[in-house]
Amino acid sequence: MPHNGCPGERRDHEKGTRSRMRIAMISAHTSPLAPLGGRETGGMNVYVLELSRELARLGYDVDIFTRRDGDLPAVEEVAPRLRLIRIAAGPPEPIEKEEIVHYLPEFQRNMRRWFGTQPRPYDIVHSHYWQSGWSGTLLAREFRLPHVVMFHTLGEVKNRARFGEEEPKLRIRHERTITRRATAIVTASDHERQLLELYYGGDLERMHSVPCGIDLDLFFPRDTDEARERISIPGDAPLILWVGRLEKLKGVEILVDAAAQLERRDFRLLVVGGDERAAGLRDELEAQARAAGIAPNVEFRPAVPHSELPWFYSAADVCVVPSYYESFGLVAVEAMACGTPVVASRVGGLISTVTDGVTGYLIPWRCPEPFAEKLEVLLGNPELRANFSAAARRSVERFRWSTVGLRIADVYDAAIERHRRSEGADALARPFGKEAWESAIIARG
Ligand code: UDP
Repeated sequence: MPHNGCPGERRDHEKGTRSRMRIAMISAHTSPLAPLGGRETGGMNVYVLELSRELARLGYDVDIFTRRDGDLPAVEEVAPRLRLIRIAAGPPEPIEKEEIVHYLPEFQRNMRRWFGTQPRPYDIVHSHYWQSGWSGTLLAREFRLPHVVMFHTLGEVKNRARFGEEEPKLRIRHERTITRRATAIVTASDHERQLLELYYGGDLERMHSVPCGIDLDLFFPRDTDEARERISIPGDAPLILWVGRLEKLKGVEILVDAAAQLERRDFRLLVVGGDERAAGLRDELEAQARAAGIAPNVEFRPAVPHSELPWFYSAADVCVVPSYYESFGLVAVEAMACGTPVVASRVGGLISTVTDGVTGYLIPWRCPEPFAEKLEVLLGNPELRANFSAAARRSVERFRWSTVGLRIADVYDAAIERHRRSEGADALARPFGKEAWESAIIARG
């Protein structure tokens, strides 16, 4: 869709004026500036920060709103035209994601107050994850703004992935209402778009499939020997890598089992990610590796800074993503950007980022045997690996942030237009059931 002038520019045709568009980006439960690789800090944090940076570069004024979880300034300048606003809601300290729901009404009230005191109104509310979507829906309605939502994960989809944890009904109910009321929804893949239609009755017309972006100036292939030295992996043993938030949904136990089935015993398996809250799962995985007789081959390392990860991907022969579900799966794309082939579950966004037999392998079953088989093929065949590596790097150009940012700008244009044409009037006329919706969240504090 062509832009009306530059992206980020608002034109008032009646007054003949131009100004920058203001975006209220909401990331209620987790700060985009938090260290990555913890239990709640992964792909979404990277996405919100990098997208906001790109939009600010394009000319938008972006404010990211997050719950205040420490003794940090209420307003922080992150980059030119980009600020982080910390909103008081509940204790100013980290709390479990599941607990945050009780402080959403306070978050919402304080956001409303902030909106009400702005000299220049926002043009769009863009929320991330259902908790922000809850606040975003109310704010957008009250201030008559278009509301763009990205869910990142969906309760219903997680429950159907059957990895043994149940998402609360409240979440699913709210996701359904947010879907119905949003002006536009960004999905990370066509697959997610279909799921939103299937499980939540989402209107395909309002859903825009835009992949996540990657910093291709950070994620590029480095010299393998230098990379191994840098991450302190001596020797040239085949290196299998896993990276991410260490949680059950990621299926790391499938990888440990697959590694145990390899005929060769000269490999190293490096598992990177997780903080102290992942200690229980790490203990389980260590016990599993011991029981399978591969403990000496397996090493667990806590989360590393994002900027160090290119060295890890470049040092590895293969990166494995055995998740039960991934709405996008940034790690797979980052690995491919560093020229590392990927063996991944055939789920969610991975279906559209990894090309089976070209940039890696996609495994349709959540069991170790097929993972072991493909690992054996790749580790035993340097020429195949080199071909995959070159194809992998070539395949990631479409995830460059400058491309993705413009596509999100198109979504904003479409949302503003849709809101102007019909939604504004319709939404206000339609009964909203605001009280029922608000009281479904049990306020605390
Ligand atoms: N990550 C990181 N350091 C770590 C582990 C993970 O910077 O130690 C980053 C990783 O680079 C990726 C993100 O966390 O950008 C994980 O995103 P992904 O989409 O793979 O998974 P999600 O967290 O969304 O489930």
